[in-house]
Amino acid sequence: MTQLAVHDPATGERIAELPADDAASVAARARAARTAQPGWAALSLQERKACIGHFRDGVVRDLEALAVTMTRETGKPIRMSRNELNGLLPRIDFFLKEVDRAVATETVLDEGGMKERIEHVPLGVVGNISAWNYPWFVGCNVILPALLTGNAVLYKPSELASLTGLEIARLLHQAGVPKDVFVPLVGGRDVGAALLEQAVDGIFFTGSHATGQRIAQAVGSRFIRLQLELGGKDPTYVCDDADPRMAAESLADGAMYNTGQSCCSVERIYVHERIHDAFVAAFVETVQGFKVGDPMSEDTYIGAITRAAQLDVLDAQVAEAKAKGAVLHLGGHRLRGPGNWYEPTVFGNVDHRMALMREESFGPIIGIQKVKSDEEAVTLMNDSRYGLTAGVYTPSAERARGLLAQLHAGSLYWNCCDRVSPRLPWSGYGDSGVGLTLSKYGIQAFTRPRAWHLRAA
Ligand code: NAD
Repeated sequence: MTQLAVHDPATGERIAELPADDAASVAARARAARTAQPGWAALSLQERKACIGHFRDGVVRDLEALAVTMTRETGKPIRMSRNELNGLLPRIDFFLKEVDRAVATETVLDEGGMKERIEHVPLGVVGNISAWNYPWFVGCNVILPALLTGNAVLYKPSELASLTGLEIARLLHQAGVPKDVFVPLVGGRDVGAALLEQAVDGIFFTGSHATGQRIAQAVGSRFIRLQLELGGKDPTYVCDDADPRMAAESLADGAMYNTGQSCCSVERIYVHERIHDAFVAAFVETVQGFKVGDPMSEDTYIGAITRAAQLDVLDAQVAEAKAKGAVLHLGGHRLRGPGNWYEPTVFGNVDHRMALMREESFGPIIGIQKVKSDEEAVTLMNDSRYGLTAGVYTPSAERARGLLAQLHAGSLYWNCCDRVSPRLPWSGYGDSGVGLTLSKYGIQAFTRPRAWHLRAA
């Protein structure tokens, strides 16, 4: 059997060796899931909800140990690991509360002996290929509504968050979800690719645009449900009437939280020239206050870079930005190892010739560009192939609404950023993906609306 080595990105140390799946085991486990799924779907919704409720109890009970595991394998600062797990609880509560309404059978006509009904039936067996940066959030955004609505789930956690993936499986199984209904598959891209070859009814993917394209090519001709939650290059505009310090403190957190490794991290900032200098000074001062260090320390804000290969991406963006005239206000270098480390990095005088302002950085690095007008800001914010989130800072609700309505993004923020709500749909424009999770629509995404035409004889 092949093995998957797990490393701590903060130290480079090997912390586990896991038995991994291969093409044959993936096929066998997919067949078992197909056999088990009808029994799971035949349970009442209340019975499935009870299992997910027990899963929630397990997360609460084991929270500290789960946070430590996530920090050790991803380098996420321990406080942020706890935040993710605590933030998961209201998501679970939302799914448990909303699912009855989201999948209730609707009678849409009842007239002259004729009835029309919409019934939401499970897709069947779905595959979930997931990312490492918020493994509990992005995993559970798919896994929980899929299970609640009666699907079996083949779950391929990221190879960089496999210990966490196995903890999710342990807690679901302990909570009463049968082992063939929720099936973790351990391994890297080969195991993900093997999963795509199985006779599944849907593929739900969270990860990079490049992998999303490969997945779309692999399954596109099969006409199964395909959702792709991909990267972003999320912009924010700070208007001339905004409080520069308030905006800077909020956006520094939005750019650097989770070491900048969030799909909705702020990745581009445009500031009106009237408050530009005050904003940059406050931004740099805020970032200088972020403690870089051991992810297990309570006061660490910037942890390790989880994927070693991302260091090359950051180096290349820094070198190109400098060569094209950007001004480096802070950072700009790797930190000495062992492990994967990068200084929090702030550039000014940037423009859209630079990859720093066009391609996802996925690290603690940001470019700040001066603009002359709202029109210029809107044009630059929309000058991207991505469209996950976009934001505006101004005290004026009317100005914000007018600006935000022009932006090509799935989520719009006024005086806030880097925020996800279970009550709202999470989706992207353009290369940020297709389909959505969260909200009632993100529950219905795991069902097929079936039409019933019923005439009484
Ligand atoms: P990735 O694309 O490298 O890997 C994602 C998953 O795909 C992993 O489980 C990996 O093993 C698997 N995989 C890789 N190649 C495959 C192949 N050929 N076939 C099948 N599976 C394959 O992404 P990552 O580094 O894990 O995650 C970071 C990316 O995810 C960023 O771009 C980030 O913006 C994005 N992301 C998006 C959201 C969102 O909600 N839109 C949320 C979190 C992360």
